[in-house]
Amino acid sequence: MVKAIVGANWGDEGKGKITDLLAEQSDVVIRFQGGANAGHTIINEYGRFALHILPSGSFSSHVTNVIGNGVALDVKKLLRELQSVMEQGVPAPRLIVSDRAQLLMPYHILQDTYEEELLAGRAFGSTKSGIAPFYSDKYAKTGIQVCDLYEEERLRERLNAAVERKNQLFASRYGKPGVDAEALFQDLMEQRELLRPYVGDVAEFVRQALKEGKTILLEGQLGSMKDPDLGICPMTTSSHTLAGFGTVGACIPPTAYEDVIAVTKAYSSCVGSATEPFVCELTGEAGDELRRRGGDKGEFGATTGRPRRVGWFDAVATRYGCMVQGATQVALTCLDVLGYLDEIKVVTGYEIDGEVTDRFPTPGRLERARPVFTTLPGWKSDIRGVTDYNALPAQARAYVDFLEERIETPITFVSTGPKRHEMTFRTSKL
Ligand code: GDP
Repeated sequence: MVKAIVGANWGDEGKGKITDLLAEQSDVVIRFQGGANAGHTIINEYGRFALHILPSGSFSSHVTNVIGNGVALDVKKLLRELQSVMEQGVPAPRLIVSDRAQLLMPYHILQDTYEEELLAGRAFGSTKSGIAPFYSDKYAKTGIQVCDLYEEERLRERLNAAVERKNQLFASRYGKPGVDAEALFQDLMEQRELLRPYVGDVAEFVRQALKEGKTILLEGQLGSMKDPDLGICPMTTSSHTLAGFGTVGACIPPTAYEDVIAVTKAYSSCVGSATEPFVCELTGEAGDELRRRGGDKGEFGATTGRPRRVGWFDAVATRYGCMVQGATQVALTCLDVLGYLDEIKVVTGYEIDGEVTDRFPTPGRLERARPVFTTLPGWKSDIRGVTDYNALPAQARAYVDFLEERIETPITFVSTGPKRHEMTFRTSKL
């Protein structure tokens, strides 16, 4: 049985917490896209962690964690993260790295950095982790797969060709020095030995796991709005953030999906460029307060530390986000954060060129959208850590009912705090 846990919005919805929780009753957790460019915050009996590349099942010793072929694999970051969680007392996670995953190389990071410098004010808000150049190379068929590490001649050939192209680009487009193919090769020779114990055939592993009736969780990175096709182009990431991509990025048979859990916060948050359209944004003092109170330590990026933009819950974007994920249910996180508010607004429509719509627009029209709000009463109490849904204040439950109706997807998990078991379970009214 396969369940996907994916983001309904701009990322940072709390997927790590939900994955960590569900991993307790699962056998396998797979990352199927993205790289180390975003972090999942997890707070459990071992402490507080921001995982960037390791799957969030890494804290459950019965779970096999898998880096699928769809991931941008930065080997050094993976090994460092593995080391770091073990140093914090976590038993060595069981890990398989797909032999078909491609390597995120130092020249991808350089290219990303140079490109953002060149674009300056028109930049895409990249984390400069090399993600866009990595996926560009993958689709230009100039990438290097993990399996190539163990085929020296092939590796040398592919690496030399890639470096030649990169060095031409670095000189002509950025006026920067080139990289040294031999030094990179020697580096890869070291990395391959460290990686060797983890490398495996993920397609075969998944097939066997499904045959044995195992439960597999797919863990998405970022969210619907960041999908290159269905998100807010070009302010997206470069890999598909949608559950459907797990069929490619983790070799999951399309018919094996049982559940797609879209995660969304009870308000909105978004990292990235300031020029990105964010219709629901709350600015000024009210925004600062929400940012300070949000998440487990304020709304600041788990990878970059950048302050996240915050806003009211956006039912237009989230309805669309759930739709494109094919969500069967929704996990609503951070409801506890809103307990200080007298009134809570929800974006229930966008006004575009004088017309109000509840359908999420294409990117050009999105730039002209203005929010239309519905205001609901707050519950003015601290609900942190409540585990019985029916024990929540009536206004809090009414707020959740309202969101569910608007996003047209059953809300079944309502999270009341950052810790693993700060969670309530709700029966949908849809
Ligand atoms: P992810 O990338 O989707 O896993 O999300 P992040 O970890 O980047 O951001 C989610 C933030 O919200 C983190 O700081 C979490 O610890 C925090 N968080 C998750 N669920 C809850 C919740 O129910 N209440 C509160 N207060 N914080 C939460």
